[in-house]
Amino acid sequence: MDEPSPPAGWDPASWELWRRPARAVGLVLVVEVAAVALVAAHLAVPTPEAVALAAFLTLLSVVHTELATGIERIRRRAAQTSYFDLSSVWTFAAALLLPPALAAAVIAVVYLHLWQRVWRPAKVPVHRHVYTTATVVLAAAAAHGVVTAAGGLPSGPEDVAGVAGMAAAVLAYVVVNTLLVAGVIALTHEWPGVRELVGRWDDNALEVATLCMGGLAAVTIGATPWLVALVLPPILVLHRAVLVRHLEEVASTDAKTGLLNSAGWQAEATRTLRRTQRVRATAAVLILDLDHFKLVNDAHGHLAGDDVLAAVAAELRAGVREQDLVGRFGGEEFVVLLPELPPGPLGRAEMRAVAERLRRLVAELDVPVCTPDGNLTISGLSVSIGGAAIPVDGATLEQALKVADASLYAAKRSGRNLVRIAGPVQIPAPRTAG
Ligand code: GH3
Ligand code: MG
Ligand code: MG
Repeated sequence: MDEPSPPAGWDPASWELWRRPARAVGLVLVVEVAAVALVAAHLAVPTPEAVALAAFLTLLSVVHTELATGIERIRRRAAQTSYFDLSSVWTFAAALLLPPALAAAVIAVVYLHLWQRVWRPAKVPVHRHVYTTATVVLAAAAAHGVVTAAGGLPSGPEDVAGVAGMAAAVLAYVVVNTLLVAGVIALTHEWPGVRELVGRWDDNALEVATLCMGGLAAVTIGATPWLVALVLPPILVLHRAVLVRHLEEVASTDAKTGLLNSAGWQAEATRTLRRTQRVRATAAVLILDLDHFKLVNDAHGHLAGDDVLAAVAAELRAGVREQDLVGRFGGEEFVVLLPELPPGPLGRAEMRAVAERLRRLVAELDVPVCTPDGNLTISGLSVSIGGAAIPVDGATLEQALKVADASLYAAKRSGRNLVRIAGPVQIPAPRTAG
């Protein structure tokens, strides 16, 4: 009889971990060994009360995950992004209330359950889940250390050190976790960008909110254990808040290219411009329209055309700064907002340089596509670009877009594969004699 094959992801030889740079793999192994060593160093026979408390927290986490997966299923239907893990409410409470080895045991069981119910069905690689578990064990140990150093959990209204210790423990948990995750990302990618490294602002705010609930849960358990059940409803509402945010994100994303769609781009661009105008900086908009794109569809089919749109989108995203905003305006048209440009001619020169760079990137692009006639590479693409500066060419986003659109049509009329920037025609200064 054949041996049953292990579930996908269990075979270490197939892990994408090994395809990461050696230094990133090194950090992963060091962190995992450190987590195990920390537990080993703190092994001690726990009191029956501590074991009961550990079981209680684990039970609450299991109930939480089971209730939340219903909400999360709606989200997975609507968005690619996976489950937002709010289990730190229980792992943080465990960190504050239990000795490190027992807290690690709670974390291990909570993460095993999460793996079974959430992450394995979402096809997250097992090695990544193991690393997350190790970072949480270390973050919990750091939080425990901080609270112990502050003299334990707040014991009464006078205990200022206890309250400060709790706040510091939240900080320690977030910092350790973020640094360890950011470390692996930084060692894997050349320069992934700050947002990629430390996560989005509202994701971090959510994590802090969850930890605050964990802190309150820990204090409540100390006084009236069953009262901690009151933490469950707000946590489930937090899950719904995350769901709403993700649905918003889906509504503003273009599914074909992953860029912002027209409405999402306009909303985000308006917000960004408001900031730019507060510091009286110059901004610019570029509108890009692929040349004779209909011919690509006619020659290779719409699916190949879609692959080209996705490849162009990725190229545009890679060709601008992190703070620049790239969107798909519609069809084969894209928009870019360049905030925080230097004022005057310098800003205009920079806008032109960016537009020229994007034009060149598209012209040099080779897109491998799969067509009914077999695999082939589409090249020889080109794009026409119109640009306008804000507030010089148009005081508002709409006005600037109109001016940039007129410039784009000027580029089309002048032969395509060109950049046209609106604005004053540069009249050379008259030479002075002598
Ligand atoms: P021009 O240089 O004047 O811009 O020529 P063009 O062919 O690019 O412009 P036209 O407006 O005539 O055609 C745009 C084409 O873009 C037609 C349409 O089929 C194609 N298109 C728009 N959206 C999509 C899409 O989502 N996928 C694919 N594959 N094609 C699309
Ligand atoms: Mg068009
Ligand atoms: Mg076109």
